[in-house]
Amino acid sequence: MPFFQKDSTTRTVIKCTECERTFYSDEYNRENVADSCHCGNLHIGIIETLPDSAYDHLIGTWYERVPPEIYDEPLPPKPEPEVIEIPRRMGFYPESEKTTKLSGSG
Ligand SMILES: [Zn+2]
Repeated sequence: MPFFQKDSTTRTVIKCTECERTFYSDEYNRENVADSCHCGNLHIGIIETLPDSAYDHLIGTWYERVPPEIYDEPLPPKPEPEVIEIPRRMGFYPESEKTTKLSGSG
């Protein structure tokens, strides 16, 4: 991975100031980059780069009436790996579930 593609901790937010629709840069890629806001003011699309560019493509924003607000915000936390919870129980456990560690004394 090239030095300029470090894991990002922020994402760019593009917000239409008329209808309040927000677009998040990390949700778009070459396959799904065509989008518009509810009121038709903002359009999101792809900008092709030159073959020797460091970037494969760019995400572009165009507006009809009012320019968008563009700012960065922290990325949402990544989902935690699923934790399997063992239910707590009262009473006796079957022999197979007992874990007894004996000390080394005779
Ligand atoms: Zn809008």
